[in-house]
Amino acid sequence: MRAVRLVQVGKPLEQADIPIPEIGSQDVLIRIAAAGICHSDVHYRAGISKIDDLPLTLGHEIAGRVKEVGSDVTNVSAGDRVCVHYLVHCGSCEFCVRGLEQFCRSGQMIGKHRDGGYAEFIKVPGANAFALPDEVSFEVGAIMMCSSATALHALNKARFKSGESIAIFGFGGLGFSALQLARAFDCGNVYVVEINPAKLAAAGTMGAIAIDARAAEPVEQIKEATGGTGVDVALELIGSAKTMREAVLCLRPLGRAALVGLTAESMSILPYTELINKEVEIIGVSDHLASELPALIEFARTERLRFPPEILRVIDLDAAQINVALDALKHSIDHIRTVIVPPK
Ligand SMILES: [Zn+2]
Ligand SMILES: [Zn+2]
Repeated sequence: MRAVRLVQVGKPLEQADIPIPEIGSQDVLIRIAAAGICHSDVHYRAGISKIDDLPLTLGHEIAGRVKEVGSDVTNVSAGDRVCVHYLVHCGSCEFCVRGLEQFCRSGQMIGKHRDGGYAEFIKVPGANAFALPDEVSFEVGAIMMCSSATALHALNKARFKSGESIAIFGFGGLGFSALQLARAFDCGNVYVVEINPAKLAAAGTMGAIAIDARAAEPVEQIKEATGGTGVDVALELIGSAKTMREAVLCLRPLGRAALVGLTAESMSILPYTELINKEVEIIGVSDHLASELPALIEFARTERLRFPPEILRVIDLDAAQINVALDALKHSIDHIRTVIVPPK
């Protein structure tokens, strides 16, 4: 089969002809119909996030049709449309048995620790295949398995409830989904904090109150807009100590700040006046859980989570096209999502 693989860190991905994987009794073989190109793939190619065993087929946002199932697989059948949960886990360690597979002792990420979706076929455990309703295209089924799933996990971790207000710091891929999902939760006011004018305008069009961080301190703006009290929940999706601190400071008493963005900077908080006194919580968010995916898929089926066709760009399973898409992603400031569609 054709695959596009990372052979050497820092170099363009290469086209390869490799065998179709053979499945074990608990696996399924999926003919890939769509594979999203994610910003983390740019980091893998550049060596910013380390990949240990090369060559490797990248791609962790995957949807397709089941071609073959192992004898022990009962949740899906050959011919089913599916999307793929990218965390492969053992199912039996102390974390897996509690449904917390992102901490699995022997967990592997598809497209990082094992071959991913830039290929015609992929082998995954049956437990990682989730039925994709006919209403959801393969392209949307693929791209929602990463940033949208993590945005949903962030809302769940923040115990976000109907009627609550929320501030979203950063309106990239995560923010684009977080805003729609917050509205699907029947939220109160949504404030989107950004510095990019096009993103601020897009957030406004999608029903949020745009907070231009270049115009004035975002915390002051949010306080003013909420009658001095602040918001119930803040999501930090940027990965900077400055915005993480702002996410905590814009909370009302009992508010929860969920930190999703990655940074190595340290964040300063005054324990008494900024945390204890208000009983606010700072919550770390990492990846997402298989148990959250059925709800996510249902939000997509009912179009509460949407990726309009104009923001989807389709390319071939072709190394040159994929490398160009990865180059473009390095500097992207829009919501365009590139999806690889292999030959049928
Ligand atoms: Zn991703
Ligand atoms: Zn485990």
